[in-house]
Amino acid sequence: MKLGILKESQGENRVAMLPETAEALTKLKVEVLVEKDAGKSAYASDNQFIDAGAKIDTREKVISQSDILVMIQPPTAAEIKKLKEGQVVIAVFNPFFNKDIVNATAAQNLTSFSLDLVPRSTRGQAMDILSSQATVSGYKSVLAAANTMDKFFPMFMSSAGTIKPAKMLILGAGVAGLQAIATARKLGAVVEVFDVRAAVKEEVMSLGGKFVEVEGAVDDKAAGGYAVEQTEEFKKKQQQAIHDHAVKSDVVICTAQIFGREAPVLLKKETVEKMMPGSVIIDLAASTGGNCELTKNGETIEHNGVKIVGKSDYPSDMATDSSRMFGKNLFNFLKLIINEEGGLNLNFEDELVVGTCLTKDKEVVHEKVKEFVKN
Ligand code: NAD
Repeated sequence: MKLGILKESQGENRVAMLPETAEALTKLKVEVLVEKDAGKSAYASDNQFIDAGAKIDTREKVISQSDILVMIQPPTAAEIKKLKEGQVVIAVFNPFFNKDIVNATAAQNLTSFSLDLVPRSTRGQAMDILSSQATVSGYKSVLAAANTMDKFFPMFMSSAGTIKPAKMLILGAGVAGLQAIATARKLGAVVEVFDVRAAVKEEVMSLGGKFVEVEGAVDDKAAGGYAVEQTEEFKKKQQQAIHDHAVKSDVVICTAQIFGREAPVLLKKETVEKMMPGSVIIDLAASTGGNCELTKNGETIEHNGVKIVGKSDYPSDMATDSSRMFGKNLFNFLKLIINEEGGLNLNFEDELVVGTCLTKDKEVVHEKVKEFVKN
């Protein structure tokens, strides 16, 4: 069986798999084809892929010869029409924000898998690209804040006086938020954290953060560990608590997300206007609307002296290690659908295979996405 690694679209520096992972795949008797320059922006050369046992070819040839195509960003609706009917396509479709692409994928009769849908079970952990890439975002967001701010993070006591440590507020203590706490603490910042899931309090504290509690959050066990929409009364209390803590912070890192929905707006314009000039907000939720009301996705703006960085694509800025982690997750998923002879083995009895499958036999088959595209 042949697997093709495609070069990503403009602006995305990662590649779905580095040569080291491609080599592991060839050992599973899979022939690996790589589009020319696919790894270039992640510092993986065509020669490294060749040394790993892969073949380099044009995009057209990789598409026409492959049984499975892998990439990170999904193909455009126009490009989907050029893919072979029945081909297996694995990418991060982000289906709740890409309805047209999902429908085009079904119409082209592609068997597609969206790695952002991998069930977050114990078995799924090794394939969880949301977690691996959120780890990168959490880490890099803190470094970006340190770079953007005109103050130190750590406390300094020197003959030039005492510098107070930076105060940081982190909104959302999922994978990115927890990594941000760890990174900020290593740099010496004092960290406060807010999340609607009370279950994360202990993790926050064990990393050296202080958990800001607001009573009355809705925690739905059926949501699989994800946060759910909150009541209006809670939202008001939360708004006040976030306001009180944000105005005393030098840095706010926004990571709060609700799976498949627009991000909750937690930092209002009024709050930003009361923050200290020189403060920095890094909004990782920018691509789904942002946690800050003023965020502009892909832009850094300044409002009353507060810099607001709307950036959700930090993994692309750290393309080598992001690709390394992504590729390992992808490899672990591929092991589920490749048999001992290196052939395709789609076992739809397996909850991970079925939970990740987006389209098949000209239909959208993922339960939640199916409901979503109908409406
Ligand atoms: P996410 O990116 O969906 O959201 C980030 C954080 O924002 C979450 O902690 C969420 O509770 C928080 N949030 C949402 N709305 C908020 C609001 N209004 N105010 C404040 N915070 C808000 O989260 P994630 O990092 O993808 O993790 C989601 C869940 O999945 C977590 O429970 C995590 O522990 C779990 N998880 C499980 C596995 C696994 O078992 N394989 C792997 C990773 C994560």
